[in-house]
Amino acid sequence: MKNIFALGCLTLFLYSCSSSKKNEHFSLTPTFADPTVYAQTITSNELKELLYTYASDEFQGRETGTEGQKKAVAFLAQQYQNMGVPSPMGDTYFQNVPLEIQSFPETNISINGKALPCFVDYSPLGTPSTQHIGAKEIVYVSYGIETDTYSNYNNIDVKDKIVLMKAGEPQNEDGSFVTSETKKSTIWTSGRGARNLKRDVAIAKGAKAIIFMDDVSFGRVSNYYQKKSEKSDHGAMAVQGDVLSIPHFIINDIVGKSLYKNILTDNSSKSIKTDIEIDITTESDSIKSENVLAFIKGSEKPDEILVISSHLDHEGIKDGQIYNGADDDGSGTVALLEIAEAFKTAVKEGKGPKRSILFLHVTGEEKGLLGSKYYTDFAPVFPLENTIANLNIDMIGRVDDKHTDSPNYLYIIGSDRLSTELHQISEATNETYTEMTFDYTYNAENDPNRFYYRSDHYNFAKHNIPAIFYFNGSHADYHKPTDTPDKIAYDLLETRTRLVFYTAWQLANQEQRIVADKAVQ
Ligand SMILES: [Zn+2]
Repeated sequence: MKNIFALGCLTLFLYSCSSSKKNEHFSLTPTFADPTVYAQTITSNELKELLYTYASDEFQGRETGTEGQKKAVAFLAQQYQNMGVPSPMGDTYFQNVPLEIQSFPETNISINGKALPCFVDYSPLGTPSTQHIGAKEIVYVSYGIETDTYSNYNNIDVKDKIVLMKAGEPQNEDGSFVTSETKKSTIWTSGRGARNLKRDVAIAKGAKAIIFMDDVSFGRVSNYYQKKSEKSDHGAMAVQGDVLSIPHFIINDIVGKSLYKNILTDNSSKSIKTDIEIDITTESDSIKSENVLAFIKGSEKPDEILVISSHLDHEGIKDGQIYNGADDDGSGTVALLEIAEAFKTAVKEGKGPKRSILFLHVTGEEKGLLGSKYYTDFAPVFPLENTIANLNIDMIGRVDDKHTDSPNYLYIIGSDRLSTELHQISEATNETYTEMTFDYTYNAENDPNRFYYRSDHYNFAKHNIPAIFYFNGSHADYHKPTDTPDKIAYDLLETRTRLVFYTAWQLANQEQRIVADKAVQ
C-alpha cells in the first residue's frame, strides 16, 4: 500500500500546495515530550466501540431537547468520569443551554392601507418575536451589498428603518460582476446564502425589518414556509432571548414595483415615502438542553485555554426512522473522548499540557449552531480573550466521492483565516506525524457551500479566535437514517483523530501562544 500511497501523496501534496502556502521555512518548535506515545492510545478499536454505542438506536438520533439527547449527555459525562477528567464547573459536566422553539409567526402586512395576502404576495423568512412596526417611509438599498470596493449603503442611513432590497448584484457592460470584476458568480449573486449575507449587512447597519424582492425564488421559498407554517410546531429554535433575527420577508416583483416602481432598473439607494404596517405574533416554548464540558488544567499557563469541540446532537427521529448520525457528528464526539483520554494519560505520567484544554461537546448544532453560540455569546465558562484557539471536529469518519481513490485526506477549513501561525502549525504537524492530504477547497472565501459558517468553530472565529474546522466532506448518507456506524472508516477516523491530538499538543505546549495576526478589526 505504502508505495502507491507515496506516489499518490506526492501528486496530492503538490495539489494541496496549490491551494495553501507551503511551510518552506516553518518547523514546529519542540515541546517538552514526545506526543507520539500518547497519540497511540487513540485507537480505531476504542473509537469503534464508543461509536457503536453513541450512534446506536438507543440514543434515538440525539435531537436537541429530546430524551435521546439527554441519554447522549449522560453517556458523555460518564465517560469523562470514568477517565478521571473533571468538569470546569465543579460538580456537573452540564452547561444548561436555555433554548426556545418559536411557533411559526402569524403576520400581517399592509401597504398604503392595502393588506397583502401572505404566501401570495409575501412570505415571512424568519421567526422574529412578537412586534408591530409602522412607518411612513422605507429605505430602498438596491442590492443591499457591502464589500470593500462596492456598497449600496453609501450616504444612506437605515438605522431603525424598514429596508427594501433586491436579489442579484450589479454587472458591468461586459457582463462581469461589479463586486468581483469576474463573470464567475459570487457570494452575493443568488440563493439563500446571498440573501442571508444581505440580511446580516442590514442588521449590522441597524435596520429594523427587511423586505427582499426575489421573483425567481419567491414561489419556491414561499411554498416552503407555507408548508412549515401548516406544521404546528415548526418555527426555528433559538437561544432563549436571542432575538438577533429581525423581521425578514420575501416578495415578488409585483409587490416590489408597488413599493418602488423603478426597482428593477434603478440601482441607487434612496428613501421612499410609503405607508407600511407590519404585525407579527409569535408564541415560543422553552426547551432545556445541555452542553457537556470537561477540562484539563494547564501546568504552567492555566489561564490560556485551548477549546476542542464537536457537536453531540443530530436529527433525531423522522417519520419513524432514527437518524443515527454516526459520522455527523458521532465521529467528532468519540474523537474528542479519545483525545481527552490521551491527554489524561499524559497527565498521569507528569506530561500534562502546559496550557489548559476544554473539551466542549455542544448541543443544538443542527438547529443553528445554538450550543456553541450560547457558550461564546452568552455564557463563556472561560474568558474568550484567554481562548487561544478552537479545533472543531464535525464529520471525520467517512470518505467523500471526490477522494474514493485517495482516502487519506481531510478538508481543512479556516486554518489560515485568522492566524498565519495556526495554519503553519497545522501543516507542519501533518507533515511530521500523519502525512494526510489536506484539501483546502472548502476554505475558499467564495466557497458556495459556505462550510466556514456552517459548524461550531464559526462562533469562535467570529470573535477572532483562530479556529480550524476538520471535515471529510459530504456523502450519500449525510443527514440520512443511513449514516450508521458500520459505514465508518475506523482506520481513517483514528488517523484524523490523532492529527487533531497532535495539533492540540503543539498549541497547548509550545512556548509562545499563537497570535491572531489576521484578526478582523
Ligand atoms: Zn454536523
